[in-house]
Amino acid sequence: MYRSHNCGELRATHNNTEVTLAGWVQGVRDKGFMIYVDLRDRYGITQLYFDESQSSKDLMEKAQKLGREFVIQVKGNVQERASKNPNIPTGDIEVLVSELKVLNGSKTPPFTIEDKTDGGDDLRMKYRYLDIRRNPVKNSLIFRHKVAQATRNYLSSEGFIEVETPYLIKSTPEGARDFVVPSRMNEGQFYALPQSPQTFKQLLMVGGMDKYFQIVKCFRDEDLRADRQPEFTQIDCEMAFVEQEDILNTFEGLTRYLLKEINGVEIDKFPRMLYDDAMRLYGNDKPDIRFGMQFGELNEVAQHKDFNVFNSAELVVGIAVPGGNTYTRKEIDQLIDWVKRPQVGALGMVYCRCNEDGTYKSSVDKFYDQDDLAKWAEVTGAKAGDLICVLSGDTNKVRAQLSALRMELAERLGLRKPNEFAPLWVMDFPLLEWDEETERYHAMHHPFTSPKPGQLELLDSKPGEVKANAYDLVLNGNEIGGGSIRIHDKATQAIMLKHLGFSEEEARAQFGFLMDAFEYGAPPHGGIAFGLDRLVAILGGQETIRDFIAFPKNNSGRDVMIDAPAPIDDEQLQELNLKLNLKS
Ligand code: ASP
Repeated sequence: MYRSHNCGELRATHNNTEVTLAGWVQGVRDKGFMIYVDLRDRYGITQLYFDESQSSKDLMEKAQKLGREFVIQVKGNVQERASKNPNIPTGDIEVLVSELKVLNGSKTPPFTIEDKTDGGDDLRMKYRYLDIRRNPVKNSLIFRHKVAQATRNYLSSEGFIEVETPYLIKSTPEGARDFVVPSRMNEGQFYALPQSPQTFKQLLMVGGMDKYFQIVKCFRDEDLRADRQPEFTQIDCEMAFVEQEDILNTFEGLTRYLLKEINGVEIDKFPRMLYDDAMRLYGNDKPDIRFGMQFGELNEVAQHKDFNVFNSAELVVGIAVPGGNTYTRKEIDQLIDWVKRPQVGALGMVYCRCNEDGTYKSSVDKFYDQDDLAKWAEVTGAKAGDLICVLSGDTNKVRAQLSALRMELAERLGLRKPNEFAPLWVMDFPLLEWDEETERYHAMHHPFTSPKPGQLELLDSKPGEVKANAYDLVLNGNEIGGGSIRIHDKATQAIMLKHLGFSEEEARAQFGFLMDAFEYGAPPHGGIAFGLDRLVAILGGQETIRDFIAFPKNNSGRDVMIDAPAPIDDEQLQELNLKLNLKS
C-alpha cells in the first residue's frame, strides 16, 4: 500500500492516527533540529516534520537530503498543530514522520512548481508534465473533466447516444485544409483526418440513431491564429425529425444546465438575433452583449455637408463610449493610433465630445454644427459625458474595425466581466460567402446546410442573399457552438454542390456516399457542434484555451515537448511510397 490517505485529506479529527502518505516534495525548510517538508499530490499539501528529539539521526540525515520534486513515501503520526495555517485545508495538522522512503529522485525543475511560476510559456510547454503539477493547470484539467461529465449526463438524460465515428476518413469540408495520412497498403492514396464528423453524424441519422452526440477530436490545418489549435475537441450533436426550433431549445437546455451546474448561474430564455442585425448593431456575428455600445449608422446625418471623407464612404458608423468625455486629448490620440494599427486598419477616427452642459465638441467642427452633432448623439445613443467615436469606409471593413474598437474600449472600461454570462443565438446566416481569393462562393457553414425554406430558387439569381437554416450560439462574444438544419435529399444537395463549384464527377467522388444514402429514406435532420475547449475556458472565466488542454500545441502548431511534427526516415517514406520533393 503506497498510501492510506492523500495529501489533501487529513484534518484535526485524524489527530494521533498512523498514516502513510506519498507524493512530491514541494519544499524543505531545514531548521537544524527540526525539518519541515511540504508534501504535495493532486489533492493538496500536507506538512510533514522530522524532529531531532524524536527521530533517529539516520532519518534526520535522509530528510536533509530531500530535494524539490523528489517522490517520497512516509509513515507517521498525525499531530494537531499548535499554530494552525488557515490558508490550506490540512492546516490544522502536521505529520510527525517515523519512516521515509525515497521512491524516486528529481532533477531541480526548470521552473518553480507554484501557482505563480517563474517559467515562461515555452519552458512550461516543453516540461508540460511539470506544469500540470501546478494548481492553475491541474485545476483547469479537473474543471474540463467536470464540464465534459456534466455534458454527458445532460445529453444522456435527454436520450442522446454517444457514438464514435472514424478518424481515418475522407475530406469533410469545414472550410479548412485537411491533415492527410498516407496509406501504406494503398499506394498513392491518403486518408484525411476529420475536420468534423459532419457526414458521419448525418449517416447516423439515416441509420435511425435519432439523437447522437460525441465528445470528439477534430483536425483542421488552418493558418495559425493566436489561441487556435490544429486539433481541438467538439461536443458534436445531431438529431432527426427536428426543426431549427427543436435544436435551439435542446441545446439552450444543455447550455443552461452547464451554466447552472458549473457556474451556479441561472439564465432564463436566451435572446436571439438575426445575423443581419448582429452585423448592423455590433459589426460582428458573435457580439458580446454583456454591454451596450451598439453601432449607430450615421450616413443620413453625416453625409449632407462638405466633409468628403464621410461623403465618399459606403458607411459612416459610430459608437458612444460611456463616460468617454473624460478622456484627455492625448488619450483620444492614442485611441486614434490604436484604430490605425495594421491589425485594425482604419484610416482615421472622427470623434465628438458630449459635454455635461449639453453642447458638443467634435474633431470636425469645421463641417458640422451643434444640430448635426446632436443627431449623431441621438443615433448612437450618446448621453452627456460620453464620447462618440466615428469610423467610415467600406461597409464590411468599417464594421470590423469599429467592432474591434468596441471590444477594446469595453475591455479598458472593465465591461467584459468574466463571471457574467450573456448567451445569444445568432440566426439566419447567409448560405454562401464570397471569397476574394478564389473569386467564388463558399458555403459559410458547410455544404450540407439547407437554405431557408423557399430560398433555393434565389441561388441562381442572388446567391449572396440566400439565407441558411443555420445558427450559432454565442457566449460573451465568442462563438461556442454552430450548426444547421441539413439538406436531406439528393437533388437539393446536388444543386448546392453545383453552386459551390463542384462538377458532377467531383461531387460524386467526394460526396457520392452521402447522396446515395439520401436515396434510402433519409429523415429530416439537423444538429450543432460546440467547441469544448473554448466553452470550458469561458465557463472557467478565461479567454485562452491552452491551459484547459493537457498537451496543447504552440502558436506554430508544434508540440515542443515531444518535438512534433518531425521528419520521418527514408525507410518509412519508402514504405509509404512517398518521395520528398524538397527544394535544395
Ligand atoms: N460540423 C459543424 C462544425 O464543425 C457543426 C454542425 O453543423 O453541426 O462546425
